[in-house]
Amino acid sequence: MTSQTSPEPDAAAAVPARLDHWIDGAPVPAEGGRYIGNLDPRTGAPGVSVARGTPADVDRAAAAAKRAAGAWRRLEAAARGRLMLALAAKLRAERERLAAMERADTGKPMPLALAEVEGSAAYFEFYGGLVYLPAGEVLDVAPDQHVFTRREPYGVVGVITPWNLPLNQAARAIAPALVAGNTIVAKPSEVTSSTTVELARLASAAGFPAGVINVVLGTGREVGEAIVHHPDVRKVAFTGSVAVGRAIGRIAAERIIPLTLELGGKSANIIFEDADLETAAVEAVRGFTLNAGQVCSAGTRVLVHRPVHDRFLALMAKALEAVVPGETLGPIITPAQFERVQAYFRVAAQDGARLVAGGAVADAGGGFYIRPTLYADVSNAMRIAREEVFGPVGVVIPFDTEDEAVAIANDSDYGLIGSVWSRDISRALRVADRIEAGQVFVNVWNTMSVQTPFGGHKNSGYGREKGIEAIHHYSHVKTVTVKI
Ligand code: NAD
Repeated sequence: MTSQTSPEPDAAAAVPARLDHWIDGAPVPAEGGRYIGNLDPRTGAPGVSVARGTPADVDRAAAAAKRAAGAWRRLEAAARGRLMLALAAKLRAERERLAAMERADTGKPMPLALAEVEGSAAYFEFYGGLVYLPAGEVLDVAPDQHVFTRREPYGVVGVITPWNLPLNQAARAIAPALVAGNTIVAKPSEVTSSTTVELARLASAAGFPAGVINVVLGTGREVGEAIVHHPDVRKVAFTGSVAVGRAIGRIAAERIIPLTLELGGKSANIIFEDADLETAAVEAVRGFTLNAGQVCSAGTRVLVHRPVHDRFLALMAKALEAVVPGETLGPIITPAQFERVQAYFRVAAQDGARLVAGGAVADAGGGFYIRPTLYADVSNAMRIAREEVFGPVGVVIPFDTEDEAVAIANDSDYGLIGSVWSRDISRALRVADRIEAGQVFVNVWNTMSVQTPFGGHKNSGYGREKGIEAIHHYSHVKTVTVKI
């Protein structure tokens, strides 16, 4: 245990060197001693080793979750709510240690890691306060019939999450699923598993019954697929790439189970000439550099009204100076992703994009650091404007009219986020209405809030996380008709 007052506890002390599964309320070591060795993205040195699970581990976890499901579902709602709040309190009490764990796995700056832990606790507080919500209604069908509906849990829910906001994304799916009365088999990314295991351990310490939250570690092929295939898993919440979302969707279609898919994005930030340009430039830069651009909702396409184009580009270039690799900008997660981001620099150059800043690796202590990168003279047809890079890379695309801005914003396979900057609120709302995305921000960029439903249009996925909306995705309706 590390100090709660230190601004950055020693990550080595906070992070176990070897991570085991968490099944039925206890740690379970990897069968046959199979562990995956990760690298610390800040240095490239060996990091945490993670149990390499098998379908047999998924069987064990699903059986534990199924055993726990009946009692969990029948537990008085207030008691479930108290457990959720107790877990939230533990997350807050251990925020620095959890943030240090997250930082050791991802390399992200401490303030960001802390904010994500706070946000994770907020999910358990928010949903813990909504325990009475999954209620039904009485339907006035006929004088001799009493008809009512009730919302019922699916049973065991599979939660598969990526590496960019590990604890936060696990909490985002697990909290509403629990409140709706489900039990969990979770699989975090094999490169960032520490905090999800810790979440399950803290839940047990807070009084959650064994088997309510289980975590199986390992690869997508060996563990993720086995979760989606498992006959006792009746709903899957997946956050990750489009390719894997499609693969999971095929299995779910065969099994006829519901899915929530939170996938990628190539979101547009539209800047009109009458916007507060200074604020918009700082926020536009934050939009594609936060978490080193490894955010599904990153604002990677900045659409700028031509009359202010050059001035706005200069303001963005200035704002980029405050984004310093190794300080305010974390590393890229793995060597493979590091290579992938650099490959996009070659693609952008070949396609004729003009480099304004960055476009190269950064020397910041030997880790996988990329300089914050901005391209101008970009057309929306270029690959750098169409494909998700998942690095700190933004492109500026000029436009002349409102219609053109909307057309460019919507000319994308994705539809996760949109943002509009204008002092003309009628124009801003008109444009917000026309953007094909699950959420649109006006004169602000991507506030993280637990109450706001979150999800995509088009290839960005379907279903919604967050807010009251999410509870409905973790339960289904039964109608009961009584002849009176
Ligand atoms: P990924 O799709 O490679 O992996 C996500 C998770 O799925 C991991 O746990 C992985 O082990 C597992 N997985 C991989 N193959 C699998 C398979 N065949 N069956 C079952 N599970 C499998 O994604 P990533 O590289 O970890 O994360 C980056 C992607 O996630 C980006 O595309 C990003 O846009 C997306 N993302 C979306 C959101 C959102 O909320 N919309 C949030 C964060 C990240």
